[in-house]
Amino acid sequence: MYHNVGQPRPGEYPGLTTPTAKFTAQIRFMAKMGYTGITPREWLRWRDEAATLPERPVMLVFDDAYADASRNAFPLLEQLGWGAACMVVTGYIGATNRWDEIDNLPSQQLMSADEIRAWAKRGIEFGGHTCHHVDLRNASDEIAEQEIARCKADLTALLASEPASFAYPYGGVSAAACAAAQKHFKLAFTTWPGLLHLGVAPHLTPRIGFMPGETRIGIRIHLRWGKNPYVSLHDRCIALLDITRRKVATLSERFQ
Ligand SMILES: [Zn+2]
Repeated sequence: MYHNVGQPRPGEYPGLTTPTAKFTAQIRFMAKMGYTGITPREWLRWRDEAATLPERPVMLVFDDAYADASRNAFPLLEQLGWGAACMVVTGYIGATNRWDEIDNLPSQQLMSADEIRAWAKRGIEFGGHTCHHVDLRNASDEIAEQEIARCKADLTALLASEPASFAYPYGGVSAAACAAAQKHFKLAFTTWPGLLHLGVAPHLTPRIGFMPGETRIGIRIHLRWGKNPYVSLHDRCIALLDITRRKVATLSERFQ
């Protein structure tokens, strides 16, 4: 999973923008290891119709459809002959990331309808990401259904073909969202780490979030095991330290 590819902006969520040079290095490294980028439809054809896949397939998924990804990432993938997926917030095509702007995060340009149509013919497969980038965990069942159904209808009208895949904004899955995703799409991506294999529930597909600073060893570990045990251990230690710090602060307040 990637989001922006280009120049990181001050004040944005850390790790969401992968500088172009780092992205290029990560992709070239994966290509050197023998990986080939595939699309969700290629995976589905392999799963359902026994179509062939490259020996080492990797599915890159770009969330939110930022214009910088189409400028800085897609041409390299096209050059390598890699397919990839890009998840569109259909209510804001050609506009900016309004869902972040209300939290005072920097504005970022989203792809236009023309860019989406053009890249759909050049190896990028577009999928849904709701109409308004709604956190479906906080939405009513009706809104979840509406956001997902309308998003599919918008993309079908734009591309003149039904999209196959969907990504839950913020990785937020609820029972209603999962049911709606199952009704309208063949595959839905979470943000839970892991590898895609036949045992995975298609509407709870895991994804590895590649950070800009991902090392070659990190990439190898992620692609082999779906998560990096060192990163998990590091995160757990940080959480434990945080709990200890808060407990000490509470105790010292009590004894003052
Ligand atoms: Zn998103």
